[in-house]
Amino acid sequence: MTWKSGFIPYGRQTIDEEDVAAVAAALRSDYLTTGPSVAEFEDAFAAFVGAGEAAAVSSGTAALHSAMFAIGVGSGDEVIVPAMTFAASANCVVYQGATPVFADVNADTLLVDPEDVERKITPRTKGIIGVDYAGQPCDWDALRTIAGRHGLVLIDDACHAVGAEYKGRRLGTQAHITCFSFHPVKHITTGEGGMVVTNDPEQAKKIRCFRNHGISTDHHQRELQGTWYYEMTDLGYNYRITDFQCVLGLSQLKKLPNFLMHRRRLATRYPALLANIPEVEPLAILPDRASAWHLYVVRLAREFAGNGRSRIFAALRAAEVGANVHYLPVYLHPFYRRRFGGHEGLCPMAEEAYKRIISLPIFPGLSDAAQEKVVEVLAESLHRMTE
Ligand SMILES: *Cc1c(COP(=O)(O)O)cnc(C)c1O
Repeated sequence: MTWKSGFIPYGRQTIDEEDVAAVAAALRSDYLTTGPSVAEFEDAFAAFVGAGEAAAVSSGTAALHSAMFAIGVGSGDEVIVPAMTFAASANCVVYQGATPVFADVNADTLLVDPEDVERKITPRTKGIIGVDYAGQPCDWDALRTIAGRHGLVLIDDACHAVGAEYKGRRLGTQAHITCFSFHPVKHITTGEGGMVVTNDPEQAKKIRCFRNHGISTDHHQRELQGTWYYEMTDLGYNYRITDFQCVLGLSQLKKLPNFLMHRRRLATRYPALLANIPEVEPLAILPDRASAWHLYVVRLAREFAGNGRSRIFAALRAAEVGANVHYLPVYLHPFYRRRFGGHEGLCPMAEEAYKRIISLPIFPGLSDAAQEKVVEVLAESLHRMTE
């Protein structure tokens, strides 16, 4: 199945014949899962982000859950999570029986506000999850200082930001553990998949155990030792990724610099194309970081908040432009309202932003002409509404 002709999604994968051939070869090999391609993908990915260890798992969500397990988050603990993110950033805390506490974001970037993070710390706080919203790294120096001052563990949900740079260094070593996603709308894909990255070999070992039911050895290690005996030392999950996915990941990783270049090119074209639309303002980009541009988020003028935004969204969709909204503040989802008392007023900046933001299409295969169409449709719909 393909997209309806003419439809422009907000994001999509780029798969070429080399990817297809690599996966086909993997399907004909001896190992469909837990074979040599897993470690090969892990090593290549660790090298790309400049970290000591990488453990591949079945999704970005599994990566985050594994990170929560590895740092020992459990019942009674609190973990601080930005309000403006995908639900999985907070769900991983709930999986471990702990409580997510939401921190507000800065209005201009929608990145987590370190001052609000510090205000939300209590004696129960165990860790802080930073999210590199839209692909732009959050303020890691400030978060590290706060985490150090209060003895907290720092986790980077970099699912938007593989290849993004903070002060000249690729994300992967800013926090104790960094998590990535390989969902098709992300920068590289394995269909579903994720990676946990750390410089701490003990954490990596815990995560490899956690992704395999909490069993301390895998079948290769047992074969090498000539034994059938294994022990389950912790409650783990089946969060393994297959070899044919890792082969796809390896093939995609080779193209990642090129994918990032395409995204950055589109991201520099947008402000110029949008310059004549005063009602639309891109988010702020900070000088000391290089975004990986997972999303291209714009903010509409205040008079379009709420209903106006809905009408613009509908107009874009009617013209086959797949705009999106990232995100409803996590604590306003019915589950978080019910279970954790989420309510309006908790994070005012995130709530105000939510009413006015739209994500415009950005992905390596988006043509210049399609990008220009997106902006034309946006300009027309605003024009019709202000007439
Ligand atoms: C995509 C995403 C995830 C989850 O990744 P999956 O691979 O879809 O499970 C987590 N956090 C953020 C911020 C994401 O964008």
